[in-house]
Amino acid sequence: AKKSDNLNCIRMYDEALHPAIEMRATLENDLAFALQGNQLRLYFQVQVDEALKAVGAEVLLRWQHPSLGMIAPDQFIPIAEDTGEIVPIGQWVLEQACQQLRQWAEIPVMNALTLSVNVSAVQFNQPDFVQMVRDTVLRSGCDPHLVRLELTESLMVRNVEEIIMKIHALKPLGMTFSLDDFGTGQSSLSVLKRLPLDELKIDKSFIKDIQHNTYDSFIVETIINMAKNLGQTVIAEGVELQQQQAILQAKGCRLFQGYLYSRPLALAEFEAALQAGIVANAASGHA
Ligand code: C2E
Ligand code: MG
Ligand code: MG
Ligand code: MG
Repeated sequence: AKKSDNLNCIRMYDEALHPAIEMRATLENDLAFALQGNQLRLYFQVQVDEALKAVGAEVLLRWQHPSLGMIAPDQFIPIAEDTGEIVPIGQWVLEQACQQLRQWAEIPVMNALTLSVNVSAVQFNQPDFVQMVRDTVLRSGCDPHLVRLELTESLMVRNVEEIIMKIHALKPLGMTFSLDDFGTGQSSLSVLKRLPLDELKIDKSFIKDIQHNTYDSFIVETIINMAKNLGQTVIAEGVELQQQQAILQAKGCRLFQGYLYSRPLALAEFEAALQAGIVANAASGHA
């Protein structure tokens, strides 16, 4: 009886703890084959202006795993950052985005759209990052002015001079830079004013309750005013309600992204929505 108790014990321990560890090991292992196995997918989430006109889209990665189904980036990007796989993956995303822009250049409804591409700090900190971006963008034949790189505040813990140098090295090509998830990190205002950023992207955590939380509302107002003073545009992410857009607009925010307008869509759906001019309508089905 004692022996089987022990076995039970061990089995319970296994069942409680192993799945998470095993899953992590599985994802880590399989991620090495995701790129060559053609399992990564780009999704596109529209960005609109006050008139609900589509002005661009953010490129968001998904992993179509052969047995586990579609995996969200929050579940595999951190692993890819740990293993270094984010470096080739990030380059691939940029290549795909640039090729997409090149194809859209021929299509009147699509040819003015910007594409925002997320850049991991691990990727940005590679010594050949500037060269890689320059080569990738120029080789694609897209208009570099339509490429926007989204950086995060987690980058700022490193050598700021080096970050500034890299951004300055790329800006002459025409591409623009956005600071993603703004307000959640720890970048100081003195660092921020030295970075040649074009856009601040207000994190969705401040938008979520903006309609009842006066504290969030005040923070958002401060971010918008600061961006204005720094000569940067500001975009709000995670806009789900008309009321949230109205509040943001009253405070001077002119660009919006969120489920209110559209979820991230696969390429064919995204193109169809834009060509039908129904991006704003697409939201009502989901919200
Ligand atoms: P992010 O760059 O801040 O992207 C915004 C996230 O918010 C996306 O999640 C998007 O689907 C979600 N979102 C958009 N509108 C709304 C809304 O109205 N409400 C809510 N609740 N969420 C909304 P997603 O696609 O799961 O991506 C999560 C994160 O994964 C991204 O956050 C980004 O940090 C990372 N990521 C995605 N693609 C890439 C990539 O190609 N490279 C890198 N390095 N990171 C990526
Ligand atoms: Mg982003
Ligand atoms: Mg964000
Ligand atoms: Mg985020």
